[in-house]
Amino acid sequence: MRKGILLVAVMVAVTLAFVGCQRGPAPDVAKKKFYTIGTGGVTGVYYPTGGAIAKIVNVKKKEYDIRLTVESTGGSVFNVNAIMAGDLEFGVVQSDRQFQAYNGYEGSEWAGKPQKDLRAIFTVHPESITLVAAVDAGINSLQDLKGKRVNIGNPGSGQRQNSIDALTAAGIDIEKDIKAEGIKASEAPGILQDGRIDAFFYTVGHPAGAIKEATSGTRKVKVIPIELPNSFYEKFSYYAPSVVPIQFYPGAANKEVAVPTFGVKATFVTSSKVDEKAVYAVTKEVFENFDTFKALHPAYSVLTKENMLEGMSAPIHDGAMKYYKEAGMK
Ligand code: GLU
Repeated sequence: MRKGILLVAVMVAVTLAFVGCQRGPAPDVAKKKFYTIGTGGVTGVYYPTGGAIAKIVNVKKKEYDIRLTVESTGGSVFNVNAIMAGDLEFGVVQSDRQFQAYNGYEGSEWAGKPQKDLRAIFTVHPESITLVAAVDAGINSLQDLKGKRVNIGNPGSGQRQNSIDALTAAGIDIEKDIKAEGIKASEAPGILQDGRIDAFFYTVGHPAGAIKEATSGTRKVKVIPIELPNSFYEKFSYYAPSVVPIQFYPGAANKEVAVPTFGVKATFVTSSKVDEKAVYAVTKEVFENFDTFKALHPAYSVLTKENMLEGMSAPIHDGAMKYYKEAGMK
């Protein structure tokens, strides 16, 4: 047995030495070829966004010797932490979460722990804090959530803190005043339809599969307006008034065209430790194929090359900056 193991070890060593000689000491050989993009639930917009970026870049996979793959995850907070841990190379992250993580923002998951290696690449579609409620629950405002069973989002999601901020601004304590659930956004429409919750929050671009699913079941649902005072926007500089374009959801019981709420932006991020060549390739391919990219999801209809450089709070990765300078965008 021992001899067998020894023999295998010797064979492996000889093979490695041989491969090493064949390929020579070129520095790129050791570099990673496969890069993973952390996204969100499969019925959100992050997952198709990761897919859109991968699709564009992988056309040139031979030229750049990189291949992007997409992973469904718990969302923004999970993505930041996994990128910082080196488990993922890229991720889609809410702009408010990018700001909080880079700055170690008080009251966030990164309080006192600024994620200084976080790097921005570009921003993508707008996301709205979307409050979906069953019509039979009699909910017409944030206040009406009192005493109700509400999914505020799984730990690891971006929306969890957005829900808490909105509820707190409305004077609602998540421990005492509501029955707060921490379920993944992809599961929320099903449990709303089953009657196990009355409402759920989801910070997402539109149209989103999850909201389509929630509004097309037999239990009638609607999107609830979230109207907040100026002091809310003064306190949280990373939030801005926004709307949910309800026309994407003909099954919703809403009559209004655009439901007022607040929003953030989806951003594409990486780590300073991810190599410049890979980040350059990703940035270049997305921008040089901008029209193709934009056509891949209706939530991108408002995108311009210029506004994809707005809303970043972490420093831009050197590889992305190299492309922006070359293209005269910075
Ligand atoms: N904004 C959500 C989050 O950060 C994800 C939305 C989506 O997957 O489109 O958790």
